[in-house]
Amino acid sequence: MRQFKICFVSSEVEPFAKTGGLADVSGALPVALKNLEQDIRVMMPNYKSINERKYVLREVIRLKEVHVELGGEQRVANGKTAFLPDSKVHVYFLHIPEYFDRKDLYVDSATGKEFEDNAERFAFFSKAVLETLKLLYWQPDVIHCNDWHTSLIPFYLKTHYKNDEFFQNTRTVLTIHNLAYQGSFPLEKAAKIGIDPEYIKPGGPLEFNGQLNFLKAGILYADVLNTVSERYAEEISSDPEYGYGLEEFLQMRRDDLYGILNGVDYDNWNPETDRFIPYKYSVDTLDQKVLNKQALCKATLLKFQKDVPLIGMISRLSDQKGFDLLEEVADDLMKLNVQLVILGLGDPRYHKMLEKLAQKYPGKVSVNLRFDNKLAHLIEAGADIFLMPSRYEPCGLNQLYSLKYGTVPVVRETGGLADTIKNFDPKTGEGNGFTFKEYSGTAMLDAIQRAVETFKDKKTWRKLQITGMKQNFSWDVSAQKYLDLYEKAVEK
Ligand code: ADP
Repeated sequence: MRQFKICFVSSEVEPFAKTGGLADVSGALPVALKNLEQDIRVMMPNYKSINERKYVLREVIRLKEVHVELGGEQRVANGKTAFLPDSKVHVYFLHIPEYFDRKDLYVDSATGKEFEDNAERFAFFSKAVLETLKLLYWQPDVIHCNDWHTSLIPFYLKTHYKNDEFFQNTRTVLTIHNLAYQGSFPLEKAAKIGIDPEYIKPGGPLEFNGQLNFLKAGILYADVLNTVSERYAEEISSDPEYGYGLEEFLQMRRDDLYGILNGVDYDNWNPETDRFIPYKYSVDTLDQKVLNKQALCKATLLKFQKDVPLIGMISRLSDQKGFDLLEEVADDLMKLNVQLVILGLGDPRYHKMLEKLAQKYPGKVSVNLRFDNKLAHLIEAGADIFLMPSRYEPCGLNQLYSLKYGTVPVVRETGGLADTIKNFDPKTGEGNGFTFKEYSGTAMLDAIQRAVETFKDKKTWRKLQITGMKQNFSWDVSAQKYLDLYEKAVEK
């Protein structure tokens, strides 16, 4: 097997900093690649919220001062290093005091608004990555960028560093985890981050809808692109509803666009070993699962009812995730004699809506508006059904965790959900969950109804649980596919 030097760059990495699935991927894929004998290092910003003592971050003498210049402004970054837990993967934490001395990643929790200087923050970070590589004298074959935050790296490499010998053999891969987040900023920002006016004139490579667009830069300048499921790759390059206008450019690059499903970190998400759940269980001890349900009900103030299906949801509360469908049919859903436990954080509109729902159905609906990893694990273990009615879903991880925990998923057939969850057919016994196509409350309700009916038939339900628990979505398979992708990039 060929060994690549890979620099994996991400704005969030589990367990150091996380807002969503990007962190899960960034914490797990590099370890899987290391297990395939790859020479991989990770780079991320050093946010104030990162616990340096807990993760044993060490100074790197060579990275005491990393000089970064953009748009005539100088910043001095500082690089520290630690390992991804239980691995030999080096992570470099780049600190730029002006930009990362704040605990929040993208949105100021005090105001609920995105930071005004997000363009500068991630542009300077991106350039700091390149300067750090030079100071380390480590020439990667591939820089693997993720989402808009690091999408300027391919652009800077092909412009600012065009004639730099150091990077002559370095190629870039961009993984799009969510096309809706594009890093769109007023055009005036361009000059501040070293982007010449020609690139942002109307129709220019970094201009989109009158804004400076980081993700478009990545789409046009990265050597190879991928997204996190085959279905989503298809959707975003063909359908304006999913492509948000960028489908045109993805279509242009369709020969270089791939879909690779995310894997699951089963060291972290496995009911046999999960340190966050009170009762471990497996296919052979599935009867233990109900004890977790009991613990979950206690923790979330729900009345424990063994035979009433408990539906779990864990999600960012954004328009993407289908909470408007829940709003539409909440009362009808409650008539089905189910219970609902929701863990989420996000749009205040959904906070209000969910709080009201919890007030209306005490003991039946529990709403937990916070980020809580421990409760997330307990919901996966304790719920009977997991609901993901997403409007779109690049890959989705919780449906995969749910399979492993014997918590049967009900999902909308889109993106990665469509690629991983197949509708249960009571006649043939095939399928691992319940799905619906149309984005509507009634379609969702119908799928939940089918799940609730099946739940009553204990034997069939158990079979369905076991089918999911036995499936394997580990990173090994997907990591191998990323190696093929790197191969394609270096051949460029
Ligand atoms: P996305 O990346 O769109 O947010 P994914 O399903 O790919 O969705 O990944 C979401 C990840 O974030 C999962 O690991 C999920 O458990 C976690 N998560 C989301 N919201 C919360 C929350 N409020 N508390 C704890 N974990 C959460």
